[in-house]
Amino acid sequence: VKERGPSTFRFYHSKMLDTSNNGAVMESHLRRAIEKNELSIHYQPQVDLDTGKINSFEALLRWNNPKFGLVPPSVFIPIAEDSGLILEIGDWVLNQVCIQLKEWQIKGFIDVRIAVNISSKQFKQEAFANAIRKYIYKYELNPQSLELEITESSMTNIHETLTILEELKKMGVIISIDDFGTGYSSLSYLKRYPIDIIKIDQSFIKEIEQDEKDEAIAKTIIHLAHSLGMKVIAEGVEKKDHVEILKEVNCEKAQGYYFSRPVPIESITEMYFC
Ligand code: C2E
Ligand code: CA
Ligand code: CA
Ligand code: CA
Repeated sequence: VKERGPSTFRFYHSKMLDTSNNGAVMESHLRRAIEKNELSIHYQPQVDLDTGKINSFEALLRWNNPKFGLVPPSVFIPIAEDSGLILEIGDWVLNQVCIQLKEWQIKGFIDVRIAVNISSKQFKQEAFANAIRKYIYKYELNPQSLELEITESSMTNIHETLTILEELKKMGVIISIDDFGTGYSSLSYLKRYPIDIIKIDQSFIKEIEQDEKDEAIAKTIIHLAHSLGMKVIAEGVEKKDHVEILKEVNCEKAQGYYFSRPVPIESITEMYFC
């Protein structure tokens, strides 16, 4: 962009202003998204690489707005985070997921798990652990059927993080670290916190079949996780080659377009719970 000179820069700049303007409009629409029924959750299967079986899914939020159409989470989640709306939205997601788990449990599917993305603002809310407890009691859930995906960016305060994670762990919910390998934290937190699962970020998987360094990193993460008694899920698995390599290096689970895109609940029910 720089080589093209100042006019391009001006263009870029005005476009940025547009986007931020749009952001404010979007925020006002997002504010009413729950009551207007514009939010939904898609589910992406996580495949056990040893057995080929599926008993867990990641919940991924979708926003369909009449004015903006289908807005990607990469656009609206940051707006929700900056405006604080993420607290209400995140709570809505948790409730929906727990309702879904309850429905499956009633039908006798008790070994299914759903992983929910927890934004750092949500995680740092004083009442977060209590909110989780409330939902588990309200829907009488097996706590192990609920997995919370947390990123390193949520772990800024060691003492606070430890307190929350230990409280959650006592309840029996599953804790996973999302986007592992992309944050700037030191690895020391892995020995302090009660973490069950590490999710290898998709950036290490995308070209793993042709990039030895990616493979070395993935292998090392898996080895590290196993040494610490944790399990591993690889994200962004798009090809058979990816699956082969991940099996070879003893990765437990994989998630990605190769198996399935995130899909509406009806498709999940049809495919796995009929
Ligand atoms: P994430 O948690 O890392 O989720 C994985 C993203 O990768 C999802 O994008 C998923 O659709 C996509 N994906 C899955 N398999 C593949 C693949 O094989 N190839 C490629 N290229 N992509 C794949 P999505 O649904 O657009 O979500 C983007 C991000 O938005 C998520 O990243 C997460 O950080 C955030 N997000 C989504 N739902 C929620 C939510 O309910 N709460 C919060 N706080 N954040 C959410
Ligand atoms: Ca995630
Ligand atoms: Ca991720
Ligand atoms: Ca294996």
